Amino acid sequence: MTTLTLEQETNPWEAQAARFDDAAERLNLDEGIKKVLRYPTREIIVHIPVSMDDGTIEVFTGYRVQHSIARGPGKGGIRYAPDVSLDEVRALASWMTWKCAVVNIPFGGAKGGVICDPKKMSQGELERMTRRYTAELMEFIGPEKDVPAPDVNTNEQTMAWIMDTYSMHMRQTVTSVVTGKPLNMGGSRGRREATGRGVSICCDQALKHLGMSVEGCRVIVQGFGNVGSNSAKLLRDKGYTIIGIAEWDGGLYNPNGINIDALLEYRAKHGTINGFDGADAADKNDLLERPCEILIPAATENVITSKNAERIRAKILCEGANGPTTTIADEILSDKKVFVIPDILANAGGVTTSYFEWVQDRMGYFWSEKEVNDRLERIMIDSFDDVLSYATAHKVNNRTAAYMLAIDRVAFTTKQRGMYA
Ligand code: GLU
Repeated sequence: MTTLTLEQETNPWEAQAARFDDAAERLNLDEGIKKVLRYPTREIIVHIPVSMDDGTIEVFTGYRVQHSIARGPGKGGIRYAPDVSLDEVRALASWMTWKCAVVNIPFGGAKGGVICDPKKMSQGELERMTRRYTAELMEFIGPEKDVPAPDVNTNEQTMAWIMDTYSMHMRQTVTSVVTGKPLNMGGSRGRREATGRGVSICCDQALKHLGMSVEGCRVIVQGFGNVGSNSAKLLRDKGYTIIGIAEWDGGLYNPNGINIDALLEYRAKHGTINGFDGADAADKNDLLERPCEILIPAATENVITSKNAERIRAKILCEGANGPTTTIADEILSDKKVFVIPDILANAGGVTTSYFEWVQDRMGYFWSEKEVNDRLERIMIDSFDDVLSYATAHKVNNRTAAYMLAIDRVAFTTKQRGMYA
């Protein structure tokens, strides 16, 4: 087994690079193209001055990394968190390139992040920070250049501020500069639930593939933000039994199934899932290790590591989050024959519906929710099949197959476009 320190193991850039190297090697990728695709095209660092509510000035550090624009404009979310780092944003940007290629949509990959603690900031402070961050990135983003979207701790309101700031500078309303916007300003029906919907479609496909049934299928979800809560809700609606929910501040367990609608209502009222009387309180880390058919990490990176992978008792791991599993944990899960639906496939429903939003904005013509969901379902099922076929053809696991498929597609276009000199 690979030996790494915990710090190396949990560095997302190293995790991305190790998987890239492995897949590139198996594809026998041209050395030059490998160098091109291994590193991001552009890394922007901005220092954002913000007037705080108490009259002081704070300076926040923000990043936008554009990994590849070979197949189309950069695409990817913006996250706000105290532990954002350049290495993390780099990794997330390249994951976006691979993700967009896995689902075969015409985007490259990018990601942004600002080091801040949104839980401790007022709406006004968040708005001023978002607007100044956008202003600093004016010449780098745009509908044909790089199109941001929500990610951890950012939402429709954040996108509305970015859209407005960009539009003020352009002297015209430009809705297609960001996706994940509110419906009334060029957002797409179905975008809010899209990542969870994609996760739920992947779960359905995995059950079909493995000959398992929805009835009695126990699911544990880690993270109850946009991805986790929508995955849980949609899966419960389809008849899955959600037995556990792990959140950053606590966990819930009910072997008979948690009523997700009631839990969502409770959380909206109390701001936490703790204290919900439809389940027992449970330790958030312990929940990951309880027996279940499907485990869905749907928060951030490094949740399944060398420290707990051995004790995972799920049959299927469906990665709603980006990078929740380290490379060492991958090896352990592979030995344990856990069926992994890798992040760059499992959570691609979000960016796929972002693509639909961008298309609708540019047409100025908006689709019904059914149209959006049907198109999403088609793409997710086809991509799931593509990854599984690749895995069978090349005798590799699903993650390696997804990377190989994606790298193959991006490398082909990169080569065909040629090097501009
Ligand atoms: N932040 C989401 C992701 O990691 C969505 C990106 C997008 O819609 O551009 O896939």
